[in-house]
Amino acid sequence: MDKQQEYVLRTIEEREVRFIRLWFTDVLGVLKSVAIAPAELEGAFAEGIGFDGSSIEGLSRVYESDMLVKPDPSTFQVLPWNDDEGVARMFCDILTPTGEPAASDPRSVLKRALGKAADAGFTYYIHPEIEFYLFKNVSGPSDPLIPVDSGGYFDHVARGTAHDFRREAITALEDMGISVEFSHHEAGPGQNEIDLRFADALSMADNIQTFRTVVKEVALRQDVFATFMPKPLVDQPGSGMHVHMSLFEGEQNVFHDPAGEYHLSETARKFIAGLLRHSAEITAVCNQYVNSYKRLWAGDEAPSHISWGHNNRSALVRVPMYKPDKSGSARVEYRAMDSSANPYLAFSVMLAAGLKGIEEDYELPEGASEDVSAMSRAERKALGIRSLPASLREAIEIMENSELVAETLGEDTFEFFLRNKRREFADYRNQVTDYELQRFIPAL
Ligand code: GLU
Ligand code: MG
Ligand code: MG
Repeated sequence: MDKQQEYVLRTIEEREVRFIRLWFTDVLGVLKSVAIAPAELEGAFAEGIGFDGSSIEGLSRVYESDMLVKPDPSTFQVLPWNDDEGVARMFCDILTPTGEPAASDPRSVLKRALGKAADAGFTYYIHPEIEFYLFKNVSGPSDPLIPVDSGGYFDHVARGTAHDFRREAITALEDMGISVEFSHHEAGPGQNEIDLRFADALSMADNIQTFRTVVKEVALRQDVFATFMPKPLVDQPGSGMHVHMSLFEGEQNVFHDPAGEYHLSETARKFIAGLLRHSAEITAVCNQYVNSYKRLWAGDEAPSHISWGHNNRSALVRVPMYKPDKSGSARVEYRAMDSSANPYLAFSVMLAAGLKGIEEDYELPEGASEDVSAMSRAERKALGIRSLPASLREAIEIMENSELVAETLGEDTFEFFLRNKRREFADYRNQVTDYELQRFIPAL
């Protein structure tokens, strides 16, 4: 047993942990959990715990349904909301019965993508801004969505639910070792944003899974409903997850060059060029639901077109203002991803797109200084600004032909994902919506 495993066993004794939840994620990004007793843990570390993978979305075909979950001791945390009951969790890797990483485990997809970056000498860091809505208690889809307040961007809501909510959520996150950098009320009523302090991409993907769970738990406790749905309200902004990223070589941020425009290095410029060139291909992964496209195309500072800019909030990739107090730092912000994406897969494809730009020396096109969504079609065309897919269907069709995404996700995950999304789009297309009834009855 290694030191980390010993530490976990010791902590379990000291803190009287009675249940250990083993967490893993399905292809769509849904968190799964199986609880074991402390006595099982040594075996779980050594060999993993067996379970039937065939009932987990995308995990395995029926004829190879036996799978193993193996806990990663570096992710051990006691759950603060169950503190008195002694519940802890660890993220797991999923293995086949012969002990190989399961091809369709999103965590292993990300590990593989990070391995590729490591071969080139890079570590990939991420700082996400996560937006979500709080509604008065909702128990099902037919309940009306009533925001908990009518605040707006950066509003301080007096005795506001959202204020207390953020405080309680942040305390729980910090108790679990997840540092929060910034939090505020977002533009929509009841909409909030919490930004996590940067971490390597694997820890961050785990953190985001924890974050979504914590936010849901705290909401339950406060009798409100939290949702990461990309676009819950027709006439209010959607919830995005802007991803700030940088590549490091050792201690050095290789996106930074004091002599470069906006302090960006050549490497950063190529990375941005890669993100832009492949953005349409990776959109199905970063924006995976039919509802995601309602956010992307509704304006409200969500990107619909493929451009980059410095402090330009209509751009898909934004280079945030250089902070003089943080010398040596530089990052690029990808603004398409929404709060419901699978972070393991989304980080994998964003990284792969950026690395491709570096590997193949892509040239960065001219940045946009104007609001690209306010331009006419003709103006965008003249500037060579393409658009992101306008629907899940378009996104799937573009992804189907993407070697980059196929290679990054691996054949199993790629095929499963496309199959699942084609079905989602077909179900959606078959609906006769409220909108159609309002529009056509009695007129037609
Ligand atoms: N809610 C916006 C979006 O959907 C982002 C607003 C902001 O700039 O923070 O992307
Ligand atoms: Mg925001
Ligand atoms: Mg942002």
